[in-house]
Amino acid sequence: MKEKISLIAQKIKQAGKNVVFTGAGISTESGIPDYRSQGGIWDKFRPVYFDEFMSSKDSREEYWRRWVALYQGIVEAQPNAAHMALARLEKMGLLQAVITQNIDGLHQASGLAEENIIELHGNTRRIRCMSCRRITPIADVQQRLAAGDMAPECECGGFLKPDTISFGQAMPVAEVEKAAALSQACNFFLVVGSTLLVQPAAHMPIYAKNGGAFLAIINLSDTPCDDMCNVLIRGKAGEVLKQIVNEVER
Ligand code: NAD
Repeated sequence: MKEKISLIAQKIKQAGKNVVFTGAGISTESGIPDYRSQGGIWDKFRPVYFDEFMSSKDSREEYWRRWVALYQGIVEAQPNAAHMALARLEKMGLLQAVITQNIDGLHQASGLAEENIIELHGNTRRIRCMSCRRITPIADVQQRLAAGDMAPECECGGFLKPDTISFGQAMPVAEVEKAAALSQACNFFLVVGSTLLVQPAAHMPIYAKNGGAFLAIINLSDTPCDDMCNVLIRGKAGEVLKQIVNEVER
């Protein structure tokens, strides 16, 4: 393990164009369950599809009840040692971008610059009107939900929805293209806490590897890219990333 950490630290210092890809596993140490581990979010609720949200008030109410049960916790969660380690790396000028599947906003909360975060699935802390696209402050929406308005609407009459990609909703083209371009052009690509099963995110490490980057993975379970990576660490994101960044600093 010590040798693997030293090798990753050395590559980070050498590479220059360093890109990190994060999934739900980077946030479990902040108390947010991932999807696919046992007892994860998946097991508890049926997802509401985008067309159901747009066409039925009952579905919008179901969606928001689910959001209150699952995402209130996300809104209150704090960045953990893994998020903080990446923010330290950015301050050292050694992190070009973080591509994330997460919707929890914890990379922003750790102090990473907004322009260096590419959110493939959006952000549940941002509430957007599906008609006029305006953002409504989350506190306003929480107040309305608490008062029993379980399908809140914008002043324009449009439906308010967390700015995340729901099942059946199109992926954000600009973000996906930016993520692909960064992955193809980087020299070092690190995956943290993802099963790498969801497309198009799952392609990013392959783009990186095909572009000649050094590929490292820190994850507690298997991924389809384990065999092609240069270094694989089966460890907890917070502990491992903290040690890597300490080593980079030395
Ligand atoms: P996933 O749930 O499919 O996989 C998470 C992976 O992280 C697993 O392989 C697990 O073994 C590993 N893991 C768990 N804790 C870890 C830790 N402390 N250190 C290292 N590895 C750890 O997650 P995914 O691949 O990101 O995809 C699921 C989808 O779920 C994404 O699309 C994402 O949008 C969404 N999601 C987001 C959040 C969030 O924003 N925090 C939470 C749950 C799900």
